[in-house]
Amino acid sequence: STPVTTTCAIAQAARLGLLVKGGKHLEALGKLKVVAMDKTGTLTEGCFQIIEVHALNKEADLQDVLFWLSCIESKASHPIASAIVDYARLHGAQSGNAEVVVDEFRVLPGEGVSGIVNGHKIAVGNERLASRLLWLEGADSALLESWKSQGLTICWIGVDEKPILIMSAGDQLRPEAREAVRDMRRLGLRLAMLTGDSLEVANNVQRKLGQIDVHAQLLPEGKVEVLQQLKAAGLTGMVGDGINDAPALAAADVGIAMGVAGTAIAMETADIALMTNDLRKLPVAVRLGQKARRKIL
Ligand code: ADP
Ligand code: MG
Repeated sequence: STPVTTTCAIAQAARLGLLVKGGKHLEALGKLKVVAMDKTGTLTEGCFQIIEVHALNKEADLQDVLFWLSCIESKASHPIASAIVDYARLHGAQSGNAEVVVDEFRVLPGEGVSGIVNGHKIAVGNERLASRLLWLEGADSALLESWKSQGLTICWIGVDEKPILIMSAGDQLRPEAREAVRDMRRLGLRLAMLTGDSLEVANNVQRKLGQIDVHAQLLPEGKVEVLQQLKAAGLTGMVGDGINDAPALAAADVGIAMGVAGTAIAMETADIALMTNDLRKLPVAVRLGQKARRKIL
């Protein structure tokens, strides 16, 4: 049976806003050596704002493109999708009265999404997607570099296989992330950031956070691979919110899901859910796990 100290620690964890799905997870928390963290929606708010939009094809009807784009993105779950939908609405992209059907909607893992709207093939995503579809040539590299140096996430939009628009989008660090990282480092934990986003964006976040190793441009299975490598240093936790984090949450010794606005699959897969999203509760919970192990509650 579960020791009294563990039961007591689970109750304490609940008061901190941590839903722990069993005593062994709390004990494992106390033994962690490494904590891997997703970037978007975990270290950052996951609330993007579209900063700038640049047309690559001057002949394209921007209103049409924005409308098609918003049809596709309204089916997507990535936080950048809702920013794009809002932007399109704000800039008057509307359907008129026509019934719009999105065919062949697809999530392109680690890249973005695609689908067919009004007979047009729309694809939207990151540089990995743009590179695979051979869109990078002829792009305004000075503009792209300037967006990258500002730590902005770059979004490529193509219609019928051709690049039409690029957008820059900004997200913000969670206000408590820096303090949480500092406290976890003080507990002797090694930290790693695992993201599907670009290295530039990840490095920008790292500069604000301090001591955390960066692993960028990862597919969901890439997050698992890095996690397995990190495990060589000892018991490893993973904190994430997205569909793309679920395999890594499952592979970790302790999977921790963001409770507010986290995806159902992340919550389902994780061993612990952070119901308040407050990252500072992580080091507190690790301490709690350590105390429970030593039965000094
Ligand atoms: P992460 O949430 O760690 O950034 P993902 O694997 O979900 O990782 O996505 C990787 C990248 O693909 C994102 O950073 C983003 O640039 C791009 N992306 C994903 N989904 C979309 C989408 N619906 N619209 C535009 N870009 C997307
Ligand atoms: Mg995320």
